[in-house]
Amino acid sequence: MLYDVVIIGAGPSGLSAAIYASRAKLKTLIIEKKWCGGKMATIGLLENYPGFYDEISGHDLSIKFEKHAVKFGAKLVYDEVKKIDNNTIKKIITVNSNYNTKSIIIATGTSIRKTNILGEEIFIGKGVSFCATCDAPFYKDKTVLVIGGGDSAIQESIYLSKFAKNVIIIHRRNKLRATSILQKRITLYSNIFILYNYLVKEILGKNTVEKVIIENIKTHKKKEMKIDGVFIFVGQIPNTSFVTNITLSSNQYIITDNDMNTSVSGIFACGDVREKLLKQIIISASDGAVAAIGAQNYIELCS
Ligand code: NAP
Repeated sequence: MLYDVVIIGAGPSGLSAAIYASRAKLKTLIIEKKWCGGKMATIGLLENYPGFYDEISGHDLSIKFEKHAVKFGAKLVYDEVKKIDNNTIKKIITVNSNYNTKSIIIATGTSIRKTNILGEEIFIGKGVSFCATCDAPFYKDKTVLVIGGGDSAIQESIYLSKFAKNVIIIHRRNKLRATSILQKRITLYSNIFILYNYLVKEILGKNTVEKVIIENIKTHKKKEMKIDGVFIFVGQIPNTSFVTNITLSSNQYIITDNDMNTSVSGIFACGDVREKLLKQIIISASDGAVAAIGAQNYIELCS
């Protein structure tokens, strides 16, 4: 079977690309490693995706994207891409199979960045979490620490505050990175506190997290803080380890032009995996549509 387009990744950009490609009657395959929706599926509540003014959960929006993509005939398989062979007919090698295609859209997004703090690895699933939506209910009436100062840290802290007694955000600088709307909003929650200029040095406990050692970055004074859980939101790393011969930025994101063309003809990239300033679901969705139209034009030009 020769596909017109194979889309790698079923997050908002990949699924949008699939909607546009399959609706344009391209033979479309989506290969997803984990679950549909990607990072979007783990977000508690979305309040800025157009049309959903009553709020919608990331999980529910992911299901809608997936249903929309397969409605027009896109095929979805769960598999992991290991390599791309870039010839006139492109070949995608996965763990379980090989797929031939005329064009490729890479929409693999990003993965969570870890901190390498002592104890982080040991306590994953035992008090260390990277997903508030998944784990917040375990911290009802408890005290949790959130590491990070970006949009994710703030948004997820707000979600956590609905369950936990206290949420303490610890940030390594004296100024948050998060957008001003979120910075303003967080002041409305009386059980969220922000500790500036501190780093977590160690996470400790017997079987589960019980305390952390934190250090003031100015005075280097250390102190112990009793907490029940640590939520880590310190940014993302792009999922590009399988990508070869495509130009990447110094931090391993895929470089594209405004039409989502990568440095290789017929291979497009969209969503958070590409080098860009703003990372938002709506921007990923838009990227996916542009990439699919690009793939369609590429196929027409080549045939
Ligand atoms: P981010 O914007 O890169 O923020 C990461 C935060 O973690 C920064 O405050 C950073 O500190 C801190 N950090 C990084 N490494 C650290 C370490 N080793 N120890 C302690 N702190 C560390 O990441 P993000 O919040 O995941 O957001 C990623 C992208 O998604 C952004 O473009 C964001 O706007 C977008 N996003 C948007 C929304 C929304 O619109 N509602 C929600 C979530 C994410 P410094 O500030 O000192 O660098």
